[in-house]
Amino acid sequence: SFSDKSAKIFVAGHRGLVGSAIVRKLISLGFTNLVLRTHSELDLTRQSDVEYFFSAERPVYVILAAAKVGGIHANNTYPAEFISVNLQIQTNVIDSSFRFGVKKLLFLGSSCIYPKFAPQPIPESALLTAPLEPTNEWYAIAKIAGIKMCQAYRIQYNFNAISGMPTNLYGPHDNFHPENSHVLPALMRRFHEAKTNKAKEVVVWGTGSPLREFLHVDDLADAVVFMIKNYSGLEHLNVGSGKEVTIKELAELVKEVVGFEGDLVWDSLKPDGTPRKLMDSSKLAALGWQPKVELKDGLVDTYKWYLENVTQ
Ligand code: GDP
Repeated sequence: SFSDKSAKIFVAGHRGLVGSAIVRKLISLGFTNLVLRTHSELDLTRQSDVEYFFSAERPVYVILAAAKVGGIHANNTYPAEFISVNLQIQTNVIDSSFRFGVKKLLFLGSSCIYPKFAPQPIPESALLTAPLEPTNEWYAIAKIAGIKMCQAYRIQYNFNAISGMPTNLYGPHDNFHPENSHVLPALMRRFHEAKTNKAKEVVVWGTGSPLREFLHVDDLADAVVFMIKNYSGLEHLNVGSGKEVTIKELAELVKEVVGFEGDLVWDSLKPDGTPRKLMDSSKLAALGWQPKVELKDGLVDTYKWYLENVTQ
């Protein structure tokens, strides 16, 4: 079982925000047999390479945290990569996991799988009830296909595949690219650079009114371990913090943590995206899991990592 600390676990995507947090968590719990491959060692979009890897390594558990991800601008600019790379990665990994005898697989998606105007907070049952937010539908369609593939393999083959849908994540190892990243790392970097350059103002996209829920990636990693131990259902499970802030509140908070003293300027020509996406994570809560990291503490921790790892 998953309490066997020597069980072989393949964490796909271990260099990313999510995968690296899961690896830290597993190591802290005493797991000793992690199988990790960088992108250049194993290209998960190549079916035969993935099959060869599984036939040689035979992992017992698989955590699928590898994906092509990005913020609102990246999703809008690279729709072909967002749909094709994600479909290829997840199809190869889920299918090979089944074929090579994996005991349990956990697939990770995102809250953007839900309709643009879903009821708030968004329950799992809102999936496929109305149109998606157009700025990220390419990524969302791939992730929905992943959930459905896990369900189909469970129904037809009794394969123990489960899916977790985290809300907006942040933390160490995030992507701090100025245009292609998500709002929280993008703002952290912009405020930091403005502070360093003694700039008077910082541009923030949109109107500031959209609401977003943020979860520290260490909380997600904790939830991942919890789900592998405690959940084997057909339905995907939401993983959120239950707390939301406006983009304006977030910008003020990041500004404070970074210590920038100038002004915020709103660029309303940039898209707002979906107005609100708070997840209903009560199913996971009912199983006994809850988040621990407060947004302010998580921002301080993330900024510390940024200073040590991104800036020279
Ligand atoms: P989303 O949650 O899928 O919409 O993705 P993002 O994290 O990219 O954007 C969240 C919200 O933050 C949107 O309303 C953006 O317009 C807003 N935002 C404000 N400034 C920025 C920024 O510098 N980068 C990004 N990515 N979003 C920003």
